[in-house]
Amino acid sequence: MPQSSSHIEKICILGGGTAGWMTAAALSHKLKGLPIRIELVESDEIGTVGVGEATLPLIRKFNEALNIDEAAFMKATEATFKLGIEFCNWGRIGDRYIHPFGDYGRPLNGIPFYQMWLRLRELGEKHRLDEWSYPVIAAEMGRFRYPASDYASVTGSFGYAYQFDASRYAAFLRQYAEANGVIRTEGKVAATSCHSETGFVEALNLDGDRTVTADLFVDCSGFRGLLIEQALKTGYDDWSHWLPCNRAIAVPCESHGELTPFTRATARDAGWQWRIPLQHRVGNGHVYCSSFISDDEATAQLMANLEGPALASPKQLYFTTGRRRKFWNRNVIAIGLAAGFLEPLESTSIHLIQEGITELIQLFPDKAFQASDSDEYNARMGLAFERVRDFLLLHYVANQREDGAMWLHFQNLTLPESLEEKISAWMTRGHIIRYEFGTFLPPSWLAVLLGQNMIPRGYDPRVLAVPEADLVAHAQSTRESVLAAVRDTPQHDLFIRQIGAGTDRAPLVAKAG
Ligand SMILES: Cc1cc2nc3c(=O)[nH]c(=O)nc-3n(C[C@H](O)[C@H](O)[C@H](O)COP(=O)(O)OP(=O)(O)OC[C@H]3O[C@@H](n4cnc5c(N)ncnc54)[C@H](O)[C@@H]3O)c2cc1C
Repeated sequence: MPQSSSHIEKICILGGGTAGWMTAAALSHKLKGLPIRIELVESDEIGTVGVGEATLPLIRKFNEALNIDEAAFMKATEATFKLGIEFCNWGRIGDRYIHPFGDYGRPLNGIPFYQMWLRLRELGEKHRLDEWSYPVIAAEMGRFRYPASDYASVTGSFGYAYQFDASRYAAFLRQYAEANGVIRTEGKVAATSCHSETGFVEALNLDGDRTVTADLFVDCSGFRGLLIEQALKTGYDDWSHWLPCNRAIAVPCESHGELTPFTRATARDAGWQWRIPLQHRVGNGHVYCSSFISDDEATAQLMANLEGPALASPKQLYFTTGRRRKFWNRNVIAIGLAAGFLEPLESTSIHLIQEGITELIQLFPDKAFQASDSDEYNARMGLAFERVRDFLLLHYVANQREDGAMWLHFQNLTLPESLEEKISAWMTRGHIIRYEFGTFLPPSWLAVLLGQNMIPRGYDPRVLAVPEADLVAHAQSTRESVLAAVRDTPQHDLFIRQIGAGTDRAPLVAKAG
């Protein structure tokens, strides 16, 4: 960037939760060498939301871009590997399926494998499509290895993420950012000063008569959206009519179960419960809709379904599903909970933080703050939020449960047009509309649609041109190679130790077999 007074010279990040420290770490790395100062303001007294432990595979790209050593990061955050999410009781009570980070089978003549499976099913095939997914079978058997470099092999077409202690991740990134020159200021913002004509934020006024000025402000102040909402009155699109869950209770407990390389989401009467296994404890929480269950009842359901003694008192959280009308307004960009919130059913919040940071770096402004940059940013982030919303909603509407008012409510819901189209293309011909932008690729939609018993009426007619014997042989050899590869894969806990990421704070509990 050439030196000129029109360039941003000072960035202020308000908030030191996961969003604030991820932003500080990334900006301090990517803008290194430029005459830009970064100051992060946070208040220990206010604290952070303190939950958010399961992630998506792209988090690896974030860490890699910052040259973060995986084993050191995993040790520091008590992390485990994650191959996907297990959903229990979502289609019907007793159902379970895994949404893996990876594809199913191998294509033949350019035809996706699941299309062949739909045809084989018609011919009497009894195996679940899951048996053609390396990450599903490895997860079910509690095993883990890195993906192979050959994408065409069954062990090459999957990704992985982490389950980690989010507070430790923020602390880890704080060290990183401070080493890169980020200044941390402890203090509570009491007021904000805005320019009388432009409305641009000029300064944060902290307790103790201190002032922090900057050219660009990143609002990572959490649900309260101190700058984007309280100062700039940006407005919020409330999506509760589609996703009505509005509360959560979170509690960690001792690890007494398996150190599973996957997160679990179990549907309950009026919401769902998460289980996230870390090396030293298990994170648990119950997300629910207060119109269908009381706080006391929701807490009781959670506490009755812990695998070990609770390690803290349950923590209550309140939220409204939706998004800020603009993520970037004037000289403020909202990232994290300040930007919006979608329940953690598919572990998307930290991912959306990462997307926000990536887009900010790509569209990094100068002091003129061109409207075209903010418009582009808002359009891209808006799509990211909407597509995640549709994917989450699919889990609720694709239910055949006969119990509970909440589940019946979803069976009669009017859907967003985008989701309606997606479901219709699937049900008629087994086609999954592919988006140019969007967090979840067709195999993810496939996992949820089939996992929740949405069997399409048709399939790709090209399958009929493949001789039946070829289909059967291809399916059999692929399934056998998945099983053989999983048999050769180490246990998850062993692998963590092998790469030097085990913390030995508590025994890792492995699944037998
Ligand atoms: C129930 C629940 C479960 C979740 N699970 C997941 C998950 O599994 N995976 C996932 O990816 N995400 C999850 N999330 C989301 C995840 O927790 C957040 O996206 C993430 O923690 C980022 O939070 P944040 O940094 O935006 O806000 P916060 O953690 O709330 O941080 C806000 C910061 O702003 C500061 N601040 C606020 N006001 C002031 C002020 N006046 N003066 C000074 N400082 C101030 C605070 O001190 C704090 O440092 C979950 C969220 C909830 C609610």
